Amino acid sequence: MDLSRFPRRRYTKDATPLEFLPNFTAALRATCPDGKSPRVWIKRDDMLGLTPGGNKTRKLEFLVADALGQGADTLVTCGAPQSNHCRATLSAAVKEGMKCRFVIEERVPNSYREEASGNNFLFRLMGVEAITVVPAGTNMMEAMQAVAAELAALGRKAYIVPGGGSNAIGGLGYVACAQELQQQFFEQGVQIDRVVLGSGSSGTHGGLLAGFLGNRINIPIVGIGVSRDPADQDPLVHKEAQAVSDLLGLNMTVPRDAVLSFGDWWRPKYSVPNQAMVEAVQMLARTEAILLDPVYTGKIMAGLIGLARQGYFGKDENVLFIHTGGAPSLHAYEAEVLGLKDMPA
Ligand SMILES: *Cc1c(COP(=O)(O)O)cnc(C)c1O
Repeated sequence: MDLSRFPRRRYTKDATPLEFLPNFTAALRATCPDGKSPRVWIKRDDMLGLTPGGNKTRKLEFLVADALGQGADTLVTCGAPQSNHCRATLSAAVKEGMKCRFVIEERVPNSYREEASGNNFLFRLMGVEAITVVPAGTNMMEAMQAVAAELAALGRKAYIVPGGGSNAIGGLGYVACAQELQQQFFEQGVQIDRVVLGSGSSGTHGGLLAGFLGNRINIPIVGIGVSRDPADQDPLVHKEAQAVSDLLGLNMTVPRDAVLSFGDWWRPKYSVPNQAMVEAVQMLARTEAILLDPVYTGKIMAGLIGLARQGYFGKDENVLFIHTGGAPSLHAYEAEVLGLKDMPA
């Protein structure tokens, strides 16, 4: 598949590492019934460019190229109070000499504090131009359009990056990841049986799926929902995969049964910590010195661990975990990830 006809900015020099996790695999095995557990590999998309990198970096390479092509001078986007996506978008704007504004949705009431650590600190350090805070349930696209209209009145030109960077253009970033993985599997002689990744605004899951289908990579993808159960999440992923496939001109109907996700691990609520997340964050930090985050990858890895203990994976199956980043928000939840606070299972 030829991605070269889509304008792209580059924020990462080389491919991110694809690595086996020997210590984590052994620790997981020790807790699985009958030692029936997978061999766990990792794709280090937490090492992508921008400050620091994560899955949003790949989407922004295509979205920001589109913004520049349209002559925009300001990126406007939205997210939750500890949004990695907002921080990555700001980081791209800084690199490109653009301005950046956010609309922040308080999904948990009164949860945005300007002086908070983690991503909120980075918003200030990298110089966000303005932040509009709105209550849960606000129509975010309308709120961003209002910001764009304010800028237009000042003679400026905004480019609206949708939540999570998840539209057809952003999804191309994970088509590029599919191609990068295909090359690494070949060069490193690695055979992966299944991929596990997070499923939120769905550009990552949907984009990778479109990339796998388009490149005839026959590896099943398992999404772990970070905010929704499968009944609500799977249609979003399917829609995203189809939109990406259409943009690529693949002439393909994405099979509905190629979309698979699990709920459960995101509870009690998006971004609210649980014990399974704490175990996962501690386990990877203490076996491989790799940092996960409390909002996304901690819960996603908790899903992988939970599925392994349920016997979902075959013995010695090679499972690839896509590390989508997020480490800055660890610092906004230090007591929680150290296990110093009571929280639901
Ligand atoms: C945004 C995000 C996700 C979810 O990816 P989507 O493409 O929105 O589904 C997963 N992990 C991290 C660290 C994120 O910031």
